[in-house]
Amino acid sequence: MNIAVFGTGTVGPAVAAALVALGHDVVIGTRDPEATLARTEAGPMGGVPFAQWHAEHPGIRLTTFADAAAGADLIVNATNGSGSLPALTAAGEENLAGKVIMDIANPLDFSQGFPPSLNPVNTDSLGEQLQRAFPAARVVKTLNTMNASVMVDPGSVAGGDHSVFVSGNDVDAKARVSGLLADLGHRDIIDLGDITTARGTEMLLPVWLRLWGALGNADFNFKIAR
Ligand code: NAP
Repeated sequence: MNIAVFGTGTVGPAVAAALVALGHDVVIGTRDPEATLARTEAGPMGGVPFAQWHAEHPGIRLTTFADAAAGADLIVNATNGSGSLPALTAAGEENLAGKVIMDIANPLDFSQGFPPSLNPVNTDSLGEQLQRAFPAARVVKTLNTMNASVMVDPGSVAGGDHSVFVSGNDVDAKARVSGLLADLGHRDIIDLGDITTARGTEMLLPVWLRLWGALGNADFNFKIAR
């Protein structure tokens, strides 16, 4: 499959490399490719600067959001929550129409410091905002409830014995995303229902953040025992 991964932070490169390893053709979308390659700072989670990562993955092209989306069958949204609507808008409605958008972003609001709050929350979600803004696209919220390393290597935590959620209005889109999740090694994929159920998984983030603090590392995930 031709996949466009939007995001040059921690999640985008991790997911892009994992999808390439599964045999997909992957491009990464960014606002300004030259500016992204010129960055020298390490990622927020201590990763290497994007240019260094990119040099180690020469098969993954870096381009604009619009160019990446134009040739893609499926788009992964791994942009900052506050940047997701701008990123998809820059991609162009015509380049998103009919396509599956696998949305990993969380609407974290750091304006009042740490821990962040959520915006939107309770009666709306980022997943719903994206679906409303691009009604012809098929948004599936998933993977936002775990760390990037667990997303792409679920077996690294408890042998993969934990859960991942999918939320979306389109049954076929959820099936395609669930197939990718299974290929990545996820075994307990729980379909929560339509895109409004993304409110629930986005609202797990306050719990996830406190667990991170309490456990002292991000190598954990939620398991729905039943
Ligand atoms: P991030 O720092 O949250 O986001 C980086 C990406 O957001 C970059 O590609 C950047 O574009 C884009 N971006 C930021 N502001 C933008 C704007 N105004 N317009 C367009 N694009 C904008 O990176 P991350 O830590 O990898 O997280 C990505 C998403 O996944 C976030 O929503 C986060 O909440 C969620 N998430 C992260 C983790 C994790 O392990 N880090 C786990 C679960 C969910 P440029 O490339 O142009 O700079």
